[in-house]
Amino acid sequence: MRHTFFGGVCPASHKNLTRKKPIAPLDVIPELVTIPLRASADEMAVPLVQPGDQVQVGQPIARVEKSGLTIHASLSGQVESVQDCPHPWGGLCPALVIRGDGKDTPWPERPAPLTADQVNLSTLLDRVNEAGIVGMGGGAHSTADKLRRAEGKITYIILNAAECEPYVSVDHRLLLEHADQLLLCTQVLSRCLRANRVAVVTLGDKLNAAEMIEKRVQLHSGTTKVYTLRTRYPLGSEKQIIQTVTGQELGQGSGPLDAGCLVLNVGTVYAISQALFEGKALTHRAVTISGGAVTRPRNLWVPIGTPLSHLLAECGQLKDGAAQLLSGGVMAGRPVEDLNTPVCKDTNCFIALSDEERKDGLETACIRCGKCAASCPMHLVPTFIVKALRQEDTAYLKKLHVEDCISCGCCSFVCPANIPLVELIHKAGEAIENGGVK
Ligand code: SF4
Ligand code: SF4
Repeated sequence: MRHTFFGGVCPASHKNLTRKKPIAPLDVIPELVTIPLRASADEMAVPLVQPGDQVQVGQPIARVEKSGLTIHASLSGQVESVQDCPHPWGGLCPALVIRGDGKDTPWPERPAPLTADQVNLSTLLDRVNEAGIVGMGGGAHSTADKLRRAEGKITYIILNAAECEPYVSVDHRLLLEHADQLLLCTQVLSRCLRANRVAVVTLGDKLNAAEMIEKRVQLHSGTTKVYTLRTRYPLGSEKQIIQTVTGQELGQGSGPLDAGCLVLNVGTVYAISQALFEGKALTHRAVTISGGAVTRPRNLWVPIGTPLSHLLAECGQLKDGAAQLLSGGVMAGRPVEDLNTPVCKDTNCFIALSDEERKDGLETACIRCGKCAASCPMHLVPTFIVKALRQEDTAYLKKLHVEDCISCGCCSFVCPANIPLVELIHKAGEAIENGGVK
């Protein structure tokens, strides 16, 4: 029997807009890319190039001094400037701007492809770090660091193909289009990190991919098992997927290694396979552009740093009428206000919602229905947190485990009073970090 997790919601998937659309290269190479110097969630890189330098696709252009995590050019052309640019996480971030020459010339010094037998722990970690790979499912933490910490401590490698965010279908497409490469890569990871089992976790809304992976697994290895689960959000979150596979609920302060698990998103494993078996750095990624306000929703293979405006042009622009733009999804994503916002390594989608799809009605008073608490997979009581925040009751706020919030958005989704619970919970978290509510 499959284990399950507390809470969660079942939003309409809207994946039919793109799930049958293969990941396509851009029709037109962007004129400019803006590549943020934020190398991972907690590391800034230092430029290796300066304005006026010529670069080629895959050439290192910035590096984190301590860890060696590298950022690469995603276009061939000339470095134009280093300047602040909007970031999909909000705010501004220093970035390298490259003006493309339209040729997409690859960097001639890129590493040679390896065979699976040539990969050992040391080559794996070096390649992943040199290729600039970070968690592509939203975390953006250094993948080499994550692998290094997992070596010898895990039973399971979990290939996270849940992709439970509505509208998004890039992981579904990667499974369908690159199943053999993904499975080979998980076997190499399993050997190098000394894990005993590989679990591929996907949902019932990707049955064609699940069936195909099942057939391939029979050819590849007996240590891999495919779990096809009932669609429920946020099954793709790390703690929820671990609980679903192993039955272990991770308490406060514990992480995946405490359950003997390493969870890797499909996009991340595909990037690792490209680094190992093709010698390619992480310069491009798959992005879903979808939503009722997009003329022609698509899945695209996109150079890192491509602005949202260019992607909308590739999709026939927005339909007439107001659109709400989001990066990262409608449940856990963030609003995008600037069309110059670029694709970063962890940007899996841009969503443009039509007026009919938006859920931003007028806020009314809490009716104490308890739906926010019933839906919270982390066992929090969002209505209590918001009440304590608004009453500036820091002492009570500190008892409500705000730090456990995974920003999944379930509470906001179910609230009949349209209270922006996630935003307020973020504020509560910041207030606690800064010493109290003022
Ligand atoms: S409080 Fe946080 S973890 Fe709980 S439902 Fe809301 S966003 Fe998700
Ligand atoms: S879901 Fe909204 S209305 Fe219901 S208890 Fe929570 S905050 Fe109040």
